[in-house]
Amino acid sequence: MMMTDLIKNSKKIVIKIGSNTLSNNDGTINKKFLEKLSQQVSYLINEGKQIVIVSSGARIAGVATLGKWMRKEDMNYKQALCAIGQVELMDAYRKSFEEYSIHIGQLLLTREDFYNYHRTLNIRNTLFTLVDEGVIPIINENDTVSVEEIKIGDNDTLAAYTTKLWNADLLILFSDIDGIYDKNPKEYKDAKLLEAVQDIDALIDIIEIGKVNEFGTGGIGTKIEAARIVNSYGIPMILANGKTENILLKLLEGTEKATVFQDIK
Ligand code: ADP
Repeated sequence: MMMTDLIKNSKKIVIKIGSNTLSNNDGTINKKFLEKLSQQVSYLINEGKQIVIVSSGARIAGVATLGKWMRKEDMNYKQALCAIGQVELMDAYRKSFEEYSIHIGQLLLTREDFYNYHRTLNIRNTLFTLVDEGVIPIINENDTVSVEEIKIGDNDTLAAYTTKLWNADLLILFSDIDGIYDKNPKEYKDAKLLEAVQDIDALIDIIEIGKVNEFGTGGIGTKIEAARIVNSYGIPMILANGKTENILLKLLEGTEKATVFQDIK
């Protein structure tokens, strides 16, 4: 099966985890998800794969920790929440990967980092070193220095840039839906899952893009654009449901559906 082969044949995989995947309905960090994630990632590493994670969730982790500022829209408060939450987030990752004797490393990046030759080179060297040494890099946007004008703005795009920078073989985006649908599955029960996308321009013409989730930032639009970026370098992307138990293993076995983006135009 196509999905199985795609994952089997990919050595370097970037996995992006959205806020909605990482959090429970009450906004706390979903520890169960992280336990399952680290177990599956550890399995993939033993199979000879290399993994880089791009993770959202700093802001909601900040809200969960403080128990306030949920509705604050001021930039300085948002940034303060991210500063607090990022530590909690990494603590949760560290604890779950510790079970498998895997170390993690944190990289906080900004848009400029991807446009400056020296910075790019340094990031690449750090990434390669961490991965070669069996450490899993966990990347997020550096919200403290990223004011609106200079932001990447969403981690779908950050994950796409990372995929390109690391020369990965595959990007997997985890959200709380099984893939891309012809219309928002949260609004329409009869929405149909599209399992393969080979022409992104044509896709945009035929689907309806619905609302963003409460904790989501990019919505489905930035996921499509992430696919466009990596596909333009010949790198495929999978959009899958991170809330499905053992999703990585199921995708590998071909027992779970998702969307594969592989623009062959
Ligand atoms: P995340 O936090 O996981 O990155 P977002 O909330 O930013 O996720 O975006 C994913 C959401 O986009 C889905 O939960 C879904 O409700 C919504 N969405 C809107 N239109 C579509 C569509 N055509 N296909 C799939 N999802 C859609």
